[in-house]
Amino acid sequence: MKNVVLLGSTGSIGTSTIKVAEDLPERIRLVGLAAGNNVDLLLEQTRKFQPEAISITDPAKAAELQGKLGSLTKVYSNTEGLLKLATLPSADIVLIAIVGTAGLQPALAAIRAGKDIAVASKEILVMAGEIVMNEARKHGVRVLAVDSEHSAIFQCLDDKPSSSVRRLWLTASGGPFRTTPKSDFPNITLERALKHPSWVMGRKITIDSATLFNKGLEMIEARWLFDVEMPRVSVVVHPQSVVHSMVEFVDGSIIAQLSTPDMCLPIQYALTYPERIQSERVQTNFAKIANLTFEEPDTDRFPAINLARKSGEVGGTLPAVLNAANEVAVDAFCARRIGFEQITQTVAATMAKHQVVEHPTLEQILEADTWARRQAAILCG
Ligand code: NDP
Repeated sequence: MKNVVLLGSTGSIGTSTIKVAEDLPERIRLVGLAAGNNVDLLLEQTRKFQPEAISITDPAKAAELQGKLGSLTKVYSNTEGLLKLATLPSADIVLIAIVGTAGLQPALAAIRAGKDIAVASKEILVMAGEIVMNEARKHGVRVLAVDSEHSAIFQCLDDKPSSSVRRLWLTASGGPFRTTPKSDFPNITLERALKHPSWVMGRKITIDSATLFNKGLEMIEARWLFDVEMPRVSVVVHPQSVVHSMVEFVDGSIIAQLSTPDMCLPIQYALTYPERIQSERVQTNFAKIANLTFEEPDTDRFPAINLARKSGEVGGTLPAVLNAANEVAVDAFCARRIGFEQITQTVAATMAKHQVVEHPTLEQILEADTWARRQAAILCG
């Protein structure tokens, strides 16, 4: 039985994790749940799973929830609430699925309290991969991947050292504009960008999948999770999203992990690792899939890949700047203040202005994040 704290329980990854917990009641006990604003769903989840503690951003909503739940479940709020849950004494593992940067401090707090963490929020490793992985080593805890690509690589590596890897191959669906000509990019609307061909996900990651920033963030995430420097992290477009990623070993052998796309699979693996537990949820029919195809990513139409590669290679505070500028630009696109192509342009312009700090402290990373948000906001008007 694993005692699990779930941060971001009301989101896309959060609700898939709830399904996994429902599938495996004798394996997974949800001892803590945290949400942003969705009081109704958090209340419903709390009544169903009776966790020891929950948290919601707004203190007034927390008080309202405490009134409804009585003394059985402790209700916290805001950042302190996330930190309380991340360090809950009974927790074995903390799954972090909060969109944006709010997951970073709870991730570090969980590690320092000796908990394993399962990371969906890629911002954590993009911003502070070096610090997070060093802290995890120091405290002897695991950092497990929830992202399907990183879960795939983790499964393929099967504990082999990074010296046995020639290259990590992250697969990318290519997003909704894989075949859209560049001349049509100025006409891309929010509605078109939100239609992902293979996955149903939160709004931010769906837009990131359309610009390919999602893949860029994943390249940096992979670099830290698997201790492989950026030139050995490659991307190949695979529209069927059946091969979730691959490892090419130094002897030329390539191992891939495959299944029909369903986030419940990598979530279950992260929460039950090192065991594989029976589940009927994911079924893969190769005859029905028929074709698995691969193509080179088009970095002319999708410059996000090269921007992410550059930020990962330079390192220091630059990945945090890329991440923050992208968040601001995606918000501006969702508010229809800028066009689709301006997302990438905003990130590139913000990165170009940044004075990189090498081997930054957490404080310097957070300063770079704030600086980049301000710069990007100016650029987005
Ligand atoms: P969603 O937008 O669907 O969900 C975000 C969750 O975070 C919600 O539960 C939201 O609460 C909560 N939240 C937001 N801000 C706070 C905060 N300050 N404190 C507490 N909770 C907060 O996002 P996704 O589930 O799609 O993505 C979550 C993370 O996982 C992202 O980093 C994404 O990149 C990553 N990821 C997602 C995948 C997917 O398939 N969706 C795949 C791989 C990675 P509320 O709704 O109550 O406001």
